[in-house]
This record gives sequence, C-alpha cells and structure tokens, in this order.
Amino acid sequence: MNLLNGNEVSQKIKLEIKSKVEAMRAAGKKAPHLAAILVGSDGASMTYVAAKEKDCHEVGFDSTVLRFDANTTEEELIAEVIKINNNPNIDGLIVQLPLPKHINEKRITETISYKKDVDGFHPMNVGMMFKGLKTFLPATPFGIIKLIEHYGIETSGKYCVVIGRSDIVGKPMSALMLQKNCTVTVCHSKTVDLPSYTQKADIVIAALGRPGFLKGDMVKEGAVVIDVGITRVEDATAKSGFRLKGDVDFESVAPKSSFITPVPGGVGPMTRVGLLLNTLEAIELFK
Ligand code: NAD
Repeated sequence: MNLLNGNEVSQKIKLEIKSKVEAMRAAGKKAPHLAAILVGSDGASMTYVAAKEKDCHEVGFDSTVLRFDANTTEEELIAEVIKINNNPNIDGLIVQLPLPKHINEKRITETISYKKDVDGFHPMNVGMMFKGLKTFLPATPFGIIKLIEHYGIETSGKYCVVIGRSDIVGKPMSALMLQKNCTVTVCHSKTVDLPSYTQKADIVIAALGRPGFLKGDMVKEGAVVIDVGITRVEDATAKSGFRLKGDVDFESVAPKSSFITPVPGGVGPMTRVGLLLNTLEAIELFK
C-alpha cells in the first residue's frame, strides 16, 4: 500500500506556481488576481475563504475578498458580479457557497462570466469540459487528476468506478477519467448492488459523504482508492471535539489497495491547488 500524499504534491505544485508568478512579475507582467465574494458570516464559509486567500498569498497571486452583509439582496449581488466581470484587473471570481436562502445561487453563479469562472461551475465551462476542450475544471476532480498523474498511475484501459454523481465532484470526475481512457461507471444512491461494481474496479473514487462507507470487502486486491469524502464526526478525544472522516474505511481498505489517499491530507489540499491552477490559467485562457 502506498499513500497518495496530497499535502506533499500540493506543496510541490504551489512552488511551481510561485516561481511562474515571480517570473511574470519580474517580466513586468501582471500577476493572476482572484476575487472571492463572501456573503454573511457562516463559520465554515469564512474559513474556506480565508484558506483560499492564504493560498493566493503563498503563491504570489493578488487576491481580493468582497464581504457582504447577510441581508444583501440578490440584485445587489448581481450588480457586484457584473462589476467584477467587467474589471480587467480581476482574472478569476468565486462566490463562496452556500448563499443566504433569499438569494438564488444558480442565478448568481451563472451571472459570473464563464471567462472568469475559476470554479468551473458555469454551464459553458461544464460543456467545454465534457467535450474535452481547454477550460476551467472543477477544483476537486482537477486536483485528483493531478495527484493520479503525479504518481504515474496507469489509467488507460482501467475500470474506474466513481461513487457519487454531484455536479461538483462525481459527474465531472467521471468525464475526466473517461478522457484518461478509463472505462467508467458512476454509482449513486439508487444503484442496485454497488459492491458488484466496486469489487471489479481498478480505481475507485468515493465521493458520497457517508463516513467509512467503502469497506475492504468492497474493493479488489491492488485497487487504487481515492477518498473525496470529508465529514465531521464527533470525537471527544479530539481538541476540537470532532475529527474529519472520509468515505473510505481506511483500516480495512488500505491493506488491499495499491494506492490510497488519506483523510485529511489527500484530496483536500489537491482541491485547493486545483483552484490555484485555474486562476493561473485565467491570465491567458479566453483572452
Ligand atoms: P453531494 O451530497 O452533492 O452528492 C453525494 C452523492 O453521493 C450523490 O450523487 C448521491 O447519489 C451519492 N450517494 C449518497 N448516498 C449514497 C449511497 N449510499 N450509495 C451510493 N451513492 C450515494 O456531495 P458532494 O458535494 O459530491 O461531496 C461528496 C463528499 O465529498 C462530501 O463528504 C463532501 O464534503 C466531500 N468533498 C470533499 C472535497 C475535498 O476537497 N476533499 C471537495 C468537495 C466535496
């Protein structure tokens, strides 16, 4: 069993991005600029935005966080997004979700110009991704592809099972594994006899948000196992009172796997790097 170390790989990619940005600045060019919109004061959202801001500083990007009151109206937010769409100084824009209930998330995210949509959620970018055209890829699947490539994991002709069909992980993940020449099955909450698929898979990507769901008897010997899940489970022995648990039962799956991601320290840091890579790309893509 080998660990797919997302902390280590993401650090290496961040250093590469940093040196590219230093070269841009040295050549008198503008550095990538990421803007984030944060509405309200949800604790988790504030933490995520702070982490993204920290990552930007680490690699030398410019970053702006636009904070709005929880009572901000949908129209006011739309006006802000349009302003950023038209601001040539900003290359990428993300709106931290979830938004307060009175704001239509779909309307906001679809107002972001696809040319600045570094989350890769805009239908235009989703379409381009499915067609295999160059565009912004959703950060988590993008980060997973980078991790797989870093470790030289063979994908061509392999059977890959993705568990979960969300718009941000499962669906785009299946499209990217198809582009990597895998034969792909997507399993979901209505799949009948899910183990009959995972037991045959060379690569299993679990993204369902059910802690410890994938057990050792559900995977074959030598499988590559990618654990996307992060769920907070109560743990009185932890200082915070909780710990993060993945969708894979590490204890029983790890001994059977050839490669496996830990939680934390696997997919999480690669997701953060996925956003940075998109923002770096935004300097030139669609311009
Ligand atoms: P989601 O809730 O939007 O989708 C879950 C999917 O799992 C659904 O398609 C559903 O059909 C499927 N599912 C649910 N129960 C199932 C079951 N019993 N059997 C088979 N399929 C089942 O979730 P999401 O946004 O895709 O996130 C999935 C998990 O990944 C969550 O734990 C989330 O926190 C985590 N996540 C982690 C990162 C990261 O950076 N590590 C990024 C995004 C999401």
